[in-house]
Amino acid sequence: MKRLRKYLDAIDIEILRILSEDCRTTTKEIAKRLGVSVPVVRKRIKRLEASGVLEGCKAKVNSDSFNASTAIVSVKTDDPYTLYRVFEETLSGVEKFYYSDNRKTAYIVMKVLDLRDIDKVFKLVEEKGLGAGVDIITIDRVLKDSQWIPSQATVVNINYICAFCKAPIVGKPYIVEIHGKTLVFHNEKCAEAYFRMIRLG
Ligand SMILES: [Zn+2]
Repeated sequence: MKRLRKYLDAIDIEILRILSEDCRTTTKEIAKRLGVSVPVVRKRIKRLEASGVLEGCKAKVNSDSFNASTAIVSVKTDDPYTLYRVFEETLSGVEKFYYSDNRKTAYIVMKVLDLRDIDKVFKLVEEKGLGAGVDIITIDRVLKDSQWIPSQATVVNINYICAFCKAPIVGKPYIVEIHGKTLVFHNEKCAEAYFRMIRLG
C-alpha cells in the first residue's frame, strides 16, 4: 500500500473553512460564495472526505451548559496505547489524547463534572501501573478554543486509523495484508492484540 499524498488548494481550504464554521452550509451556498459550480464543490468535498482531511459533521456542544471543568493530565509512560485504551474504557471525559515521544509523556485533555473524579485518574494510573509522574492541571479560563485550518495551499498526508486502538497513526503505519484485506496498525503490538481479540471474539 502506498502512502498517498494529495494537494490542498485554495478552494479546498475555503471549503474547509466554511464547513468548520457551519458544517450544514449547503453545497449550493458554498459554490455561490466561492464562485465555482455545485458539482465542483461536491467533488472537492468527496475527495476531502476520502483522504481523511474532512472527518464529518459534528455538532458543537457547549460543555459550559453542564458545568464541566477542563483538566489537562500528563502521565510519563512508555506505552501510550495501553494508557489510551484504559482511559477510554474507564473515564468518559477524554477529549484529546496526545503523546510526546521526546518526553515519553502523554497529555490528556478531559472534561470532569466532579473534581473528585480527578482522584480516580490518579488511582487508575497508579493501581494499573500505567505510568508515573501524574500531574493534573485544572483550566479556569479559556481564551481560545478553535480549529486550525491552513491559510494557504498545502500538501496533505493521508491519515490512517489503527484497526485495534482506533487512534490516528502518526508516522509510518504497520501494515498487515490478510485475505486480500489491508489492515493498518500502530505497530506489531497493536496487530498482535487485534488478532488475539478477533480469536477470542
Ligand atoms: Zn494501535
